[in-house]
Amino acid sequence: MATKKHATKLLCHCGCGGSTKGGRYLPGHDAKRKKALIADALLGGKRAANKLDKLGWTKFLEAARPKGPAGETASD
Ligand SMILES: [Zn+2]
Repeated sequence: MATKKHATKLLCHCGCGGSTKGGRYLPGHDAKRKKALIADALLGGKRAANKLDKLGWTKFLEAARPKGPAGETASD
């Protein structure tokens, strides 16, 4: 009996419910997710920032940050 192992479907991480062929996202869906995470992180969402870090997308977050005047910190 040949049963397929590792036949688990990989769901697209963007939450659309689609299944990928092995990647985290369906083609193009990572961009959507990235945009949403960056928007969240820019608003102070730490979970979004952590997620971006995990995915190696911190550079995109940094690139999206508005470049304010130096020395303008909210705390400390
Ligand atoms: Zn998707």
